[in-house]
Amino acid sequence: MRNLYGWRFAATVALPLLLASLGVTWLTFDLIGRVSTGANVADRQRTSEIVKSALGAAQNQLASMVADNSYWDDGVRQAYGPLNPDWLEETWGASTESGSNYDAFFIVDRAHPTSMAGYRKGSSFNPVLTDYFHGKLDSLLDLLPTGIATHDSKASIFNTREGLAIAAAAPILPTSDDLKIPGTTPRYLVFVRFLTPEYVQSIGEQYVIDGLKVEATASGADGEAVKATTGASIASVSWNDRRPGDAAGSKVKRNALLILSFLAIVMAGIALICWRLISTISAREDAARREALRDSLTGLPNRAGLWAEIEKLPRPGGDVLAVAFADLDGFKEVNDTYDHETGDRLIRAVAAGLSHLVGDTGTLCRLGGDEFVIVIHGHDAQSRACLLAKQAIEFLDQSFDLDGRMASVGASIGIAVASNGEIDSNELMRRADVAMYQAKSTGKNRYCQYAPEIDRQRNEDSVIADELRQILAAGALDVAYQPIVDSKTRAIVAVEALARWPSTSSKRVSPDKFVAIAEQQGLIDALGEAILAKACSDASQWPGVRLSANISPVQLRNPNFVQRTLQIIADSGIGIGRVELEITEGSLVTDFDAAKRMFIELRLAGLHIALDDFGTGFSSIGYLRQFNFDRIKIDRSLVNCLLSGSAEQHIVQGAMLMASGLSATVTAEGVEREDQIDILRMNGCDELQGFFFFKPMPAQHISNLLSEPAALQAIQVA
Ligand code: C2E
Ligand code: CA
Ligand code: CA
Repeated sequence: MRNLYGWRFAATVALPLLLASLGVTWLTFDLIGRVSTGANVADRQRTSEIVKSALGAAQNQLASMVADNSYWDDGVRQAYGPLNPDWLEETWGASTESGSNYDAFFIVDRAHPTSMAGYRKGSSFNPVLTDYFHGKLDSLLDLLPTGIATHDSKASIFNTREGLAIAAAAPILPTSDDLKIPGTTPRYLVFVRFLTPEYVQSIGEQYVIDGLKVEATASGADGEAVKATTGASIASVSWNDRRPGDAAGSKVKRNALLILSFLAIVMAGIALICWRLISTISAREDAARREALRDSLTGLPNRAGLWAEIEKLPRPGGDVLAVAFADLDGFKEVNDTYDHETGDRLIRAVAAGLSHLVGDTGTLCRLGGDEFVIVIHGHDAQSRACLLAKQAIEFLDQSFDLDGRMASVGASIGIAVASNGEIDSNELMRRADVAMYQAKSTGKNRYCQYAPEIDRQRNEDSVIADELRQILAAGALDVAYQPIVDSKTRAIVAVEALARWPSTSSKRVSPDKFVAIAEQQGLIDALGEAILAKACSDASQWPGVRLSANISPVQLRNPNFVQRTLQIIADSGIGIGRVELEITEGSLVTDFDAAKRMFIELRLAGLHIALDDFGTGFSSIGYLRQFNFDRIKIDRSLVNCLLSGSAEQHIVQGAMLMASGLSATVTAEGVEREDQIDILRMNGCDELQGFFFFKPMPAQHISNLLSEPAALQAIQVA
């Protein structure tokens, strides 16, 4: 789960923050880089201009110096006449020694390959000029005005045989008009100043250019090109860039780093807060999700939790998934008898017991109310589910002590199985539910495994239920009456009304079946009332004969039952004392108090109550005594045993004793043979009912029978 928070945190907070931080950092440093590079470039351009001016100024200085020295009458006299070495040395040669203004001078006549006169570093020096200047001096002289009319000077940088140098030249011309030079072409005065490192450095210092260097291009130095008069680049000039942008940049970078670090701390703080928030929110979501899958009363998975559990299970080939669906029998009664708190306590006790039983062999869930589901997985899931169902029923067989209040419940359990994922979870649950209903309808407190037959049966039942609904709406249900005779005189003393599926229907449905369906489908009240109304109406023609009507235990759940029953009898006009209601033990066990209360009311109104099918239930005589039955009807299964041996006879005798112990009159049902009659009579049976005397018959036949004298009825029977 922490992993999940991590991803969520990374996706929503950490990654965006990291990307934003990286982006801001990159943008900041990129901007600083651009600004400082811009400053560096601008500074270099400015310095480059200064360097150009510095070199230009050095050349101009030499040019103006050569101009001053060449535009001079005395110079003309010396340069064009016979050359006087002393004068030359004194005038220009001596200066070459110190080299403070120029390092060499030449008097050049373009017609002469060597200089006419020259000094270098204080000594006479007359090189072959094309050699010395690598043939380039002419290009400088060509820049000067031709002829002798105007005076000018020019300077340029040369690659001389002795290295890079500035050379400046000017025609040697007189200032006085009366002094003429011989010929039409002038001689030139040329000053040379070597660009020695010291001289270059002094220029640099003058112009505040650090590390200024001028080197011949051939030496491979890189820097800015220095052009000769020919336009060719002969040297390159370089210097130490001040790079002011770098300094400013690194200063800004330092501050930016400080700000970014602060930003990083703030972001880390935000991230931490977000992490806490996300963890808390995610943990709350997890808890809510878990809570949504959990039943709050028992802590077990609820319906949603059950689906989640089933979906989680792997179902590869050959694997089996079994579901046991348990519904408590009698839980509603506990809830109604005590209070909901006690009901909750019971549910918790049941959940604890079932959890213990299931252990880690499966998953126990509570669907709500009194419904539990056990999910089991594995190749032997089916047999384990059956075993667990058996154990659960045994466990629930005990009474629960809920803070001094005793409660008994049972369970009806349906089991369904899916192999190889052949059916989906919905269908699996439906089948378990169907099987559970089968367990309930076949007697409760048992488990039942799903079979397609159950579905088929249910479909058939629902078709019958539909038709029954129509029959009831049309008032078309038939009633048959089975006479009950006095055991001594054998005269008809009563008739039992028995519901009959209408003969007009294409189906034949036994009352056992459609009564059970009516009970399940909520039609039993309508059925019971319809039969009672019809029976009362028919019986009004049979004065002096008692009418017995069967009441389903389910009808007792209807709070209006007493009032409705009394109303129907009153409406029919027959005396209420002639009517007897037959009821089986089952209802008395499930809702003792309600049944007792209703019976008291009914008996107060004058009705009789008979206990039907006596001998098939398990209630103690003491328990039954509390209901004050007017009559006990011994079930035909006991009567049937009468001739089959002395042991069974004793059971019947015991049952009749019990009946007389309840001080009720006794009717034996299902008398089929003559020989049963004496035994029953001798044992104190008051009335007899069975095919031996009469089968159930239509009302008209009863009317016919009763119209005959009592003696004749008895003889007919005999
Ligand atoms: P029950 O109340 O025990 O009714 C007596 C049943 O025993 C009747 O079956 C009757 O035909 C049958 N019977 C009587 N004498 C003999 C005999 O000598 N041998 C044999 N083998 N059977 C005999 P029926 O009419 O099929 O009714 C079956 C059950 O359906 C009734 O058992 C009763 O529980 C229920 N039932 C019938 N009508 C009604 C009704 O109107 N309301 C309610 N709630 N249940 C009814
Ligand atoms: Ca009956
Ligand atoms: Ca009966």
